Amino acid sequence: MYRKIVDFHAHAFHDKIAEKAAKNLNEYYGIPLAGNGRFQVLLDSMEENHIDTLVVHATATKPEQVPVINDYMAGLVAPHIVGFGTLHPDYPMWQKELDRFADLGLHGVKFHPIFQGFRVDDASMYPIYEQLEGRLPVLMHMGDVNVDYATPERLLHVMTDFPKLTVVAAHLGSYHDYWHAQKCLADLENLYVDTSSAIRFLEPEEATRVIRAYGTERVLFGTDYPLSLHKEELAIFDKLALSEEEKEQILWKNAYQLLGVPMEK
Ligand SMILES: [Zn+2]
Repeated sequence: MYRKIVDFHAHAFHDKIAEKAAKNLNEYYGIPLAGNGRFQVLLDSMEENHIDTLVVHATATKPEQVPVINDYMAGLVAPHIVGFGTLHPDYPMWQKELDRFADLGLHGVKFHPIFQGFRVDDASMYPIYEQLEGRLPVLMHMGDVNVDYATPERLLHVMTDFPKLTVVAAHLGSYHDYWHAQKCLADLENLYVDTSSAIRFLEPEEATRVIRAYGTERVLFGTDYPLSLHKEELAIFDKLALSEEEKEQILWKNAYQLLGVPMEK
C-alpha cells in the first residue's frame, strides 16, 4: 500500500564534514547511527522507502559558517527536498542573511541552542524571532540532559512574547521529559512537535498518549537522520495505536499544511 510520507527532520552535512559531524553527534548523544551522515545515504533511503518529501536541516555551530551552510542548503533544494537554513545570534549580518533566504529557496530556520551556545529565550535571539514571526517557521531542537538551554519553559517564554511565531519543537518538545513539555506547551496556538528521537525511546502506548495529548494535528514525522532512518523509524511509528486518519495527519498532512503545499493526493 502506498502512503505519502514527509520526513520533517533530517540533517544534511556537506560530504567534507559529514562523517566527522555524524561521529560528534554519536558521541554527544550516545546513540548508534543509522548512516554515515552523507546526504546520499538519506537520498537512497528516501527512494527505497518512497518518501514523498524530505525537510533537511543544518546548523551553524560557529557564526562565520552561516552563509556557507545556507549556500550549501540552497544547493540541495529540489522538487520534494525542502531546505531550512541557519542563523546564529553572534553572526552580525544575520539580518542580511535572512533576507537572502527567499532567493536561496529556504523555507524556515533550524536552531540548535545547545550546539550554537544560546538559551532559547536569550535577549540576543529576540530580534531574530521578531523578524521570523509571521514570516518563516522555526525548527527548534529541544531538551538536553546536561544544560538547560532548550527547556519547554524557555520556549513558552518566547512563544508568549511572539504569539505569531510558528515553532516545531523537535523531539516531542523535550527529548526526554515528554509529559512535562506537553503540559508546558499545550496551549500554544502556533506550536508543532516532531516525533524524531522521541517515539523510539517510548513504549508505543506511552508515545501514543503523548501524541494525542498534543493533538495529532500538530505532530510531524521525522527521523533525525543520521540518528535514525526511514525504515526503522516507520516501523516504530507503525506500532503506535493511532487511526489511519491520525497517521496520515502526522506522516504528511500537517507537514503540507505547515509548508503551504497544496493538498492534492
Ligand atoms: Zn535536528
